[in-house]
Amino acid sequence: METIWPIGVFASVDAGLGVRLDVARELGVPTVQLHSPHKESRTAQRAAEFLTQLAEIDIRITCVFAGFEGESYADIPTVARTVGLVPPETRAARTAELLEIAAFAKQLAVDAVGVHIGFVPHDAASADYAAIVATTQQICDCLADAGQTLHLETGQEPADVLLKFLGDVGRDNLAINFDPANMILYGVGEPIEALKTLGKYVRSVHCKDAKWSDQPGVTWGTEVPLGAGDVNFPAYLRTLAEIGYTGPLTIEREIPQEPERQKAEIAAAVELLTTLRAELKS
Ligand code: MG
Repeated sequence: METIWPIGVFASVDAGLGVRLDVARELGVPTVQLHSPHKESRTAQRAAEFLTQLAEIDIRITCVFAGFEGESYADIPTVARTVGLVPPETRAARTAELLEIAAFAKQLAVDAVGVHIGFVPHDAASADYAAIVATTQQICDCLADAGQTLHLETGQEPADVLLKFLGDVGRDNLAINFDPANMILYGVGEPIEALKTLGKYVRSVHCKDAKWSDQPGVTWGTEVPLGAGDVNFPAYLRTLAEIGYTGPLTIEREIPQEPERQKAEIAAAVELLTTLRAELKS
């Protein structure tokens, strides 16, 4: 197995998003990140079964994501209203659920828990901002007891806002899951520059591509197959090398209504990343 930049895909422990394990095996990838496990799946027995299945095909889990009922990615204002730990009316319940998902990740022997935290308020002097900082500290402290790290998915805010937020939370086990396409989809900044800014915090990454909206930040950009968008993957991998990132390259491509196309596009992405990785090494 490649020790630097092992390629990965998304999978699920249940009937969720991502690819099935037989597809992951066919794709020949050594790692997966997991989509949020449903409540019924979060048992010690399911964790043991899943780990047995993965061991048979020599795949390891690198991060478990947490998502919540009621989240919608329909458009940017809806994301701001519904996603993550920022909406105050669901914050306490979602914090509790995130900790349950982290406990399940621990049963899977996974020390990275990913989450879309939501749109962090840009006004650092506001009560909302202080509340979300305190919530994140509380989560990090619980995860630290289990030897786990919280990985915030990028996208909803510019890199400098996120950088300030990470500093204000001030916990060693708070990190970034960098998604270059989200920077473009949400219209919050050039991904390569953002990666340089956030460099030291980046402990997992997504490989996903997108084209800019003609109204960045107002309407979505468009997600496209890896290599067909505006990310510039050769520059992305060069920058990952520059910041000293050696972790997995997890391909994210969700088109669940078209599983055959999804598989073909992920296979092409695996090939492209394998080629770029080899070129950088030589
Ligand atoms: Mg992502």
